[in-house]
Amino acid sequence: MTVGTPLSYSSFRTYAECPLRWKFLYVDRLPETPRGYFTFGRVVHSVLEELVRPLLTPGARRLASGEAQRTLDDWHAGGPSPSTALPMTREELLAAYDHAWSSEGYTSPEEEERYRTLGRDLLLRYYQRFLSERPHPVAVEEHLEARWDGIPIHGYIDRIDRTPDGGLEIVDYKTSRELSGDDARDSEQLSIYQVLVESNYTEPVKGLTLYHLRSLTPHRVPPRPREALGALHNRVGTVVNGIRAEAFEPTPGRQCGRCDFQSRCPEFRAVPSTDGTRLGELVDRFDALRNQERVLSEELRQTADELHRAAEQFGVHRIPGSRSVALRRREETWQYPAETVRSLLNEAGLSERAGQGSPEEIRRLLRDPGVNAELRRRLAESGARRVKWYWELEGGSESGGG
Ligand code: SF4
Repeated sequence: MTVGTPLSYSSFRTYAECPLRWKFLYVDRLPETPRGYFTFGRVVHSVLEELVRPLLTPGARRLASGEAQRTLDDWHAGGPSPSTALPMTREELLAAYDHAWSSEGYTSPEEEERYRTLGRDLLLRYYQRFLSERPHPVAVEEHLEARWDGIPIHGYIDRIDRTPDGGLEIVDYKTSRELSGDDARDSEQLSIYQVLVESNYTEPVKGLTLYHLRSLTPHRVPPRPREALGALHNRVGTVVNGIRAEAFEPTPGRQCGRCDFQSRCPEFRAVPSTDGTRLGELVDRFDALRNQERVLSEELRQTADELHRAAEQFGVHRIPGSRSVALRRREETWQYPAETVRSLLNEAGLSERAGQGSPEEIRRLLRDPGVNAELRRRLAESGARRVKWYWELEGGSESGGG
């Protein structure tokens, strides 16, 4: 997406992570360094597309007017039924893989060979599963566009299957090392795909699946409820507003490690070489002091704990040293559970007295003779007291905490 064109999931995620990186990619159109694992994913996806495409029977589409182009009953009455086409043979599958293979982005011949073997193994195992559990796809590698309550979005969907009850299931293949059910539950990509499919097809979406190819595991979850889609729509809207306002601030984070644009990013601007040595020494000094600070604060905490144990043992609050006297101080705070306080005050018709429910406000109520004594007793009982001890120095140059 450039400013004003439809937003894809990856564009949304890129902007959400770092608006400046988004600008480098989508406005300046700077190329990224090819990476072997992306090439690998692309090749596996294209072979799977070739494998599944012969089984395709189209699904009913929504017209621009919102009406159905064909209904599922129409298809059953006279249209295509689930395909009985013969899939490609094992040899054809391997030939398709060899044909699609690309060496782009691998860092060494050994790395390329490792991926190539992994892909062959993964496709052959998938093929075995595919022969016994043939999917009923209505679309493969489908490009869909939609206006999501005013926001233009688009995406390429790996596969859309028909479910036994006549609905649709969205399938996204993953070649990543790890994948869990939580990934499917939390996937914003699947949520956006659901919106795209619901806007373009007449049949309801019945399931969302991330298919983990390395373990042949489909992580299948129900479609998102309206509220979840509403919350995501707000986040997508924020991104679109940012893009339209051309707000492209760098947001450094973990993504910087795989960002190809560090040399252009103000966050990574290099120190002038003339000042490099002096500033480098300053950083080393800062690092050493931070270390000392950590060691000292741990030592300070342990000393205060030891003093506290001695004070408890001897029942004292003042312990003299050679240059100063350590004084033990007590600080008391009260916590009141918000739910209990609210229901007690509601019961007594005093909900307007709850304020923000802060401990100070509750303590004020407890001191107020105008408040019913029984209510004050119950409020007081609901509270939990916390006592904190700390140390100060008298006569020395500093104070110490504990
Ligand atoms: S280096 Fe980090 S902060 Fe800079 S553009 Fe890349 S992702 Fe953003």
